[in-house]
Amino acid sequence: MNLLSTGNPKILKGIAQGYNTYILHLAPANLSGYEVCAKRTIGCTDACLNLAGRGGMFKKGEFTNAIQKARIRKTKMFFEDRINFMKLIVKDIELAIKQSAKKNLIPAFRLNGTSDLAFEKYEVVRNGQLFRNIFTAFPEVTFYDYTKILGRKIKEYTNYSLTFSAADGNDADVMSAMNQGYNVAVVFNIKKGSPMPDTYGLRPVFNGDDSDLRFLDPKGVVVGLYAKGKAKKDTTGFVKYPVMMLKVA
Ligand code: SF4
Repeated sequence: MNLLSTGNPKILKGIAQGYNTYILHLAPANLSGYEVCAKRTIGCTDACLNLAGRGGMFKKGEFTNAIQKARIRKTKMFFEDRINFMKLIVKDIELAIKQSAKKNLIPAFRLNGTSDLAFEKYEVVRNGQLFRNIFTAFPEVTFYDYTKILGRKIKEYTNYSLTFSAADGNDADVMSAMNQGYNVAVVFNIKKGSPMPDTYGLRPVFNGDDSDLRFLDPKGVVVGLYAKGKAKKDTTGFVKYPVMMLKVA
């Protein structure tokens, strides 16, 4: 497999529920020289999960590693050789479907593991046929993502589930996203394992750390996540206090 990966701890929780999630990790923000997170904020850029786990392990005196280099390589390929990039994604998804079937698991795909690209805009070819995007090319599988971009035209793609992400300074967008029917993911400044707040922004809070399978979440909820890594020290407002209310200008 060239572009997609599996294996982070949250994905392993999904396996217990019968799902095998494959994730595309690009180099977030503009680390590759290309911007892949149009609505990123100071807080989310600083706390980005790009550096979680092995992605953030560097040898002494080094500032990069094989994982970061691979993410940069893939991102450059996306921008500089889109046709072959999309061919590889199609090939990887087909392989993932076969692998999952052998393991009796349902495949699911998250293409924005560490990016926020509107994949509905990019055409692909599958079995010699041109499709408007990856979601129409693979109607038989589920895709999901988190996004900070409001107004993405995805309603017609019933196999694509989007959860809106709250961050520092996007409260107005969060309110709009809620009004448009999106679930909203909020990172809370509470210790892992502590109970989530009952409500946030007048919505019930659903614990989103039990798995990454966002497409199975109940509708009309805030998806609560525990602060991890650098997010635990956030001072920008990216990480929310459970009692804090939404501020709308
Ligand atoms: S938008 Fe998401 S992927 Fe991009 S920098 Fe922020 S947290 Fe990371």
